[in-house]
Amino acid sequence: MNTLHAWGRLGAAALLAILMMGAGVPDAGASEPAPFKITLKPLTGGDQEVDALDVRWTLDMPAGSTFDLTAPITYAGVEGVADRIEIISARDASGPIPFTTSDDPPHPGGFPHFRHWKAERPVAGQIEVTYLARVRSPGGRGGPPFDLRASGGGVSGAGSGFLLLPRGAETTRSRLIWDLTDLPAGSGARTTFGEGGVDIEGPPSRLMQGWYMAGPFGHYEGARASAGFNAAWLGRAPFDAAAEMAWAADAYAYLGEAFGYLDPVPPYRVFMRFVDGAPCGGGTALGASFMYARCALTTGETAPSPRETLVHEMVHMWVGGVEGPQGVTSWFSEGLTTHYTRLMMLRGGLDSVEAYGGHINRSAQALYGLAAQDMSAQAIVDVGFADGDIRHIPYHRGAFYFADLDARIRERSGGTRTLDTVLRPMFEARQAGQTFDHAAWIALVSAEIGPQAKDEFEARILRGEAFAPHRGAFGPCFTRRDKTYEIAGHGPVERYEWVRQTGASDDLCRNW
Ligand SMILES: [Zn+2]
Repeated sequence: MNTLHAWGRLGAAALLAILMMGAGVPDAGASEPAPFKITLKPLTGGDQEVDALDVRWTLDMPAGSTFDLTAPITYAGVEGVADRIEIISARDASGPIPFTTSDDPPHPGGFPHFRHWKAERPVAGQIEVTYLARVRSPGGRGGPPFDLRASGGGVSGAGSGFLLLPRGAETTRSRLIWDLTDLPAGSGARTTFGEGGVDIEGPPSRLMQGWYMAGPFGHYEGARASAGFNAAWLGRAPFDAAAEMAWAADAYAYLGEAFGYLDPVPPYRVFMRFVDGAPCGGGTALGASFMYARCALTTGETAPSPRETLVHEMVHMWVGGVEGPQGVTSWFSEGLTTHYTRLMMLRGGLDSVEAYGGHINRSAQALYGLAAQDMSAQAIVDVGFADGDIRHIPYHRGAFYFADLDARIRERSGGTRTLDTVLRPMFEARQAGQTFDHAAWIALVSAEIGPQAKDEFEARILRGEAFAPHRGAFGPCFTRRDKTYEIAGHGPVERYEWVRQTGASDDLCRNW
């Protein structure tokens, strides 16, 4: 399955902020400024599906303030966000606020660019903005499921798919309120930030980085070892959603133990939507949550559960990101997530040893089978969302880079150190607020494998030069073998595949 992800849009600092956020509503101190207050009301049409979100927000501004509103035109491949927004009213104490709009130039690869509504006069006091965000109709280019879509009598999407926000507002808290009166009886609302109405620490822009769902959704609530894990879904799942979410809850508990450094493991929220009509999406993680999206199948049709995607999206929370140029950093966020997804599924008994081998060789095919396999990290960003195969190169290239490093760290240290032991202190330092960027990574890895680590990182990751991963990159029971990859219109290339050693026990394969 071709999964789509957030391209490290969530920096380590933002991730941290989301992880540290509790579900509780803090007490408002007397001197605390009024929060940014936003009410979301899904509006249902004649077909019993949601047509739009009615959004109302208020914000206090000092007298004489300049004021502008902003919304994405395209957000990570999702087009038309600002075009689906219609401002109904914007006013302050002096009356309606007139605006002039301007658009940022588009990014060639579909990375975010924004529309701005600049107030034509200074504003003062309480500002009230009301707008409609229409749901996206089927059609157009695909991307992560940030866009607002109707399904199963409800609505879902990311804040980046429907929010028109005040630019540069300095409020430190936002109050999210739901009005579900136009939804079927029994409907609920959930976001990355919590169940129903919640207070969200930080400026209004924080609201962009979360998933939203409202409607008569099915749900699963974790208990005991997986307490804090929950899931909600809209539309008909082609698999047993409750059973698969129980599986995902166990996987989440396992990942928490295996990564270890987020202790206690934060609450986690899964969202799934099954929509009529492409584009349907894939999986994308934001903070301690992800959205899994796919096209609905006709009644009675079934499909396998996307367990690998479920684990991949959850692994994102522990892997996090590295600071660096937009998109270029996916060697870390996506590469390391791809690496750990297959390792954790193997180690945790979440899948068979054969499936682990299959996962490795699918990565090999996805990388070595492409004419563009040597493309530089920046060139891949420039292609962006226009080509899904090229966009996924950093997933596989990065994963091979980490698997190779793991084998070499083990070899050099005589088996006393591994990639896990090298990463753990970095994860903890990043969690404590320390900057983790490309320079920090080079320093970290140079200390393990020597000063050539810098040149190697630049050649393999930034310039995209081919390399042969260590023979033992995938553990003692898989070995590297030469393989010729036929590439249409390009000719054959000599690269690698991995085969299971005969006689190696499953136990050896899982524990090394
Ligand atoms: Zn991902």
